[in-house]
Amino acid sequence: MIHFDNSYARLPEGFFVRVAPTPVAEPHLLALNDALAGRLGLDGDWLRSPEGLAMLSGNALPEGADPIAQAYAGHQFGGFVPQLGDGRAVLLGEVVTPDKARFDIQLKGSGPTPFSRRGDGRAWMGPVLREYLVSEFMNAMGVPTTRALAAVSTGETVWRENGLPGAVLTRVAASHIRVGTFQFFAVRGDEASLKELTEHVIQRHYPTANGPLSLLDHVVARQAETIAQWMALGFIHGVMNTDNMAVSGETIDYGPCAFMDEYNPNKVFSSIDRTGRYAWAQQPQIAVWNLAQLATCLIPLMGEKDAAIEAATKSVHSFAPLYQAAWLHRFGEKLGLSDQAKVQPLAEGLLTIMAQQDADFTRVFAGLATGTARNEFADPSKFDEWATEWRNENPDAALMTHANPVRIPRNHRIEEIIASAVAGDLAPFNRLFEAVTHPREQRAEWDDLANAPEPAQVVRQTFCGT
Ligand code: AMP
Ligand code: MG
Ligand code: MG
Repeated sequence: MIHFDNSYARLPEGFFVRVAPTPVAEPHLLALNDALAGRLGLDGDWLRSPEGLAMLSGNALPEGADPIAQAYAGHQFGGFVPQLGDGRAVLLGEVVTPDKARFDIQLKGSGPTPFSRRGDGRAWMGPVLREYLVSEFMNAMGVPTTRALAAVSTGETVWRENGLPGAVLTRVAASHIRVGTFQFFAVRGDEASLKELTEHVIQRHYPTANGPLSLLDHVVARQAETIAQWMALGFIHGVMNTDNMAVSGETIDYGPCAFMDEYNPNKVFSSIDRTGRYAWAQQPQIAVWNLAQLATCLIPLMGEKDAAIEAATKSVHSFAPLYQAAWLHRFGEKLGLSDQAKVQPLAEGLLTIMAQQDADFTRVFAGLATGTARNEFADPSKFDEWATEWRNENPDAALMTHANPVRIPRNHRIEEIIASAVAGDLAPFNRLFEAVTHPREQRAEWDDLANAPEPAQVVRQTFCGT
């Protein structure tokens, strides 16, 4: 039913461990993404059938699958861990669409692997549904991201602080190769594998790249674009460890991630990020830090050492101007400006007033095109002053409407749909999914979902989401 072509599983043994998903007691489909199934050339009716459900829950392997847990290392909050790997995920295989795009089909929460350490290999329904909603919203806004094909409840209890209902997410990605995948081989001094990984990634993601330095340039450029898009949506990844940064440039590993409500550049949600390492405004710098780790891995493949270090350093430093250009492009669109020279002062001017008055990030930008932005300010006089200057630039409403979502998956809404789903009611999840995957559409029936949280609804922290 699915035509697999498993290029990663054809790499040498050290890249992964062959391991099948662990069957679950009583699988039920929570969500199936028909649009994505169509993109992949998969039949939604088949995915809903008992055979499809068996695949999506890990209870049976489809023909042609070659399930593996991928090996990787990573810096977690700056501390290096030489071996992480898929501890609760299994890559079933890769599908190639008629237009020759290759996608990983991965089950997350599919049971223990040799990389599980003390973990149970499982996920609970909350983070599965959060990732499903947030990744599909990101995709709807044009942000490079892994996607969600299905969510299945397992009928089993997962033990965290309490007993919680287990679930499996089917995640789709251009690949799951991370900065940490390179680090896994680099720390072992395994240059042959590094070379093989480099060639695999070039062929798969950057076919025009010519060698390891050129690959680094491409990854740096792609990440600069992605991070600028995060910033333009008020998105906070939460755990930008090197094992959670994909070399494809896709956003990956949605854990304690969230979008900010009121604008605060130092906003952190993750309960494990005590120092604010991964705060919203830190994300570009952290991306550079992570890319420097990738550069360090690639230097041994770049020939004469001093020249290689110099070239790799230059490549990593190219992030700053590329990011700056991407930021100007994204915030220029958000403000509807065609004159690039005006973007920086006007964007910074607006953000400063927003921070001073704790204005809602999404509602201010969405309100620029509709004329309601000033309502978001406790003291609108400052905004009015700014808006006079801004209007002189004849902002383009179509640009703004495309760039600024009316609705985001707000944290308090996600918490609500999780609570309902745990209680057996998926209607709120389905409604929120429709609303955030049509993020630019004004629809009266979804007005409540565009609101900022009331003080009592504010979610201050998200937990490590395991
Ligand atoms: P994360 O912080 O979610 O990116 O995960 C970091 C590492 O911990 C990865 O190697 C994961 O596979 C592993 N991990 C996270 N949760 C679990 C779990 N419940 N069971 C086994 N391994 C896990
Ligand atoms: Mg991870
Ligand atoms: Mg403030």
